Amino acid sequence: MAAGSESRPRDFIRQIVADDLRTGKRAGVVTRFPPEPNGYPHIGHAFAICVNYGIAEEFGGRYHLRFDDTNPATEEALFVEVMQRDIRWLGFDWGEHLYFASDYFGELYASAVELIRRGHAFVCDLSSAEIAARRGTLTEPGQESPYRDRPVEESLDLFERMKAGEFEPGTRVLRAKIDMASSILPNRDPVLYRIVKASHHRTGDAWCIYPLYDFAHCLSDSIEGITHSLCSIEFVDHRPLYDWILDSLERECHPQQIEFARLNITHTVLSKRVLLRLVNEGYVSGWDDPRMPTLSGMRRRGVPPTALRSFCADVGVTRVGDRRVQLAKFDASVREELNRTAERRMGVLRPLKVVIENYPEDLVEEMECVNNPEDAAAGTRRVPFSRELWIERDDFLEDPPRKFFRMAPGREVRLRYAYLVTCTEVRKDADGEVVEVRCTYDPETRGGDAPDGRRVKGTLHWVSARHAVAAEARLYEILFSVENPMAVPEGGDVTDNLNPDSIEVVDAAWLEPSVAALDPGTTLQLERLGYFSLDPDGSPERPVLNRTVTLRDTWAKLQKKGG
Ligand code: ATP
Ligand code: MG
Repeated sequence: MAAGSESRPRDFIRQIVADDLRTGKRAGVVTRFPPEPNGYPHIGHAFAICVNYGIAEEFGGRYHLRFDDTNPATEEALFVEVMQRDIRWLGFDWGEHLYFASDYFGELYASAVELIRRGHAFVCDLSSAEIAARRGTLTEPGQESPYRDRPVEESLDLFERMKAGEFEPGTRVLRAKIDMASSILPNRDPVLYRIVKASHHRTGDAWCIYPLYDFAHCLSDSIEGITHSLCSIEFVDHRPLYDWILDSLERECHPQQIEFARLNITHTVLSKRVLLRLVNEGYVSGWDDPRMPTLSGMRRRGVPPTALRSFCADVGVTRVGDRRVQLAKFDASVREELNRTAERRMGVLRPLKVVIENYPEDLVEEMECVNNPEDAAAGTRRVPFSRELWIERDDFLEDPPRKFFRMAPGREVRLRYAYLVTCTEVRKDADGEVVEVRCTYDPETRGGDAPDGRRVKGTLHWVSARHAVAAEARLYEILFSVENPMAVPEGGDVTDNLNPDSIEVVDAAWLEPSVAALDPGTTLQLERLGYFSLDPDGSPERPVLNRTVTLRDTWAKLQKKGG
């Protein structure tokens, strides 16, 4: 039995689908995701994909990927490729059900002709400015076009000549004949077709008239036999038009459009238009900049697709509401997944030299380190240990406060998986800056435990200086410093809300040698520092790491303290 039909459905859409199957209103479930190929998919799209595809999967139905490529001016073949790659990465496979609205141009044209024939559409000679001026407002009815009642034969002739390229863009459009006084604005004789003299990425110059979204979308759904057309809430006003077109043409397949609340996330912009600006104006390095909310940015940052899907499932589907989910909730999903799956490694971001005075100059010991304490199958690895090490600068204080359990003069600490060491001396440069710490080690404590059971509170990570690999680490913070970046005061710009410190590059980090062998794209945990992915910019000689998330939600804690 399909999971979705067991017990109580998780949300109102699943409830509708379950009812439709139970009552026999629908024989099966077919959904689709209909992106416009005009940008890279982002986490908002991932949410819509998880809703559409997740529901089809749960109810044993099928799902389609359909590119809504009805606007030749903004679409690029590149985006078609990228979207497919990224949706596959998310873990969905539409099999043979890949479609393009442009494949239906012939059928859509025939439907438009039929609509004119039935007296439901007319060719209008008003300019777009004139049409807009007559549209009316929420409180005022619109004005009918003087061409509204031209004879059907005349509209048929003009529409055919529009298609033949006789007229210039903007001189004529095809409009539905519905109701200029309708309280639903999209129903005020909406434009269905317009003249566009531009090459299309798939149909070339075959067409010079193109259908508008509202016309193409419902008919594409109907052509494909979609049962439930699930979309975000801004389409709610378009539902009457969706139904009107299908009813007016007496289409046999009439899918049900159902709207759900959009996903918004704090400190995040999910508008392709703004994301495109960030790319074009150089605020980020590209669509796949790890700070971007795009799927390619997240992949590069090290976010596992499974974390993205479990986040979308946790957020859940609601009917209405302008909700804004905390970015910290997303980070928590990522952390939870990576804690289970990412292997641990040691690395030092801000190095301080430690010399173990009583450790033999030439000795190198291989310490056995656990790869993932959450996953026994991940096994262990050997990490070289020698007389000179790097530790984190923050892990040493010359005058420590009472609760500081890391390294300090006279204090014994554990070097993870290695030995207990005691700090004996601090060396400084001319400016009084600590440049080196000298220690002694207790050879009886190999592995990190004292045979006499004496207690040592602090445990530090380390890297053998002689064996370490030099690396660059890119530390990311929120891209926008305010919760709702799209809220911009008069005269301001959304880019004013960018966080000027969203990236910090640490260029002198040291990593244990095994990291050099890992492939770009691998995500690991640097012990005590966070989760990191290996960036394709790096090489085995000089790895580049992206910080995916910190180990704990330090940012939320700071917020609490501050507020
Ligand atoms: P943008 O606003 O970024 O331009 P869009 O909605 O115009 O996005 P489309 O390619 O038209 O982009 O979107 C395809 C589908 O993705 C739409 O059906 C839309 O409902 C859904 N979608 C886009 N953003 C979100 C979001 N933030 N939450 C839920 N669904 C979304
Ligand atoms: Mg859109």
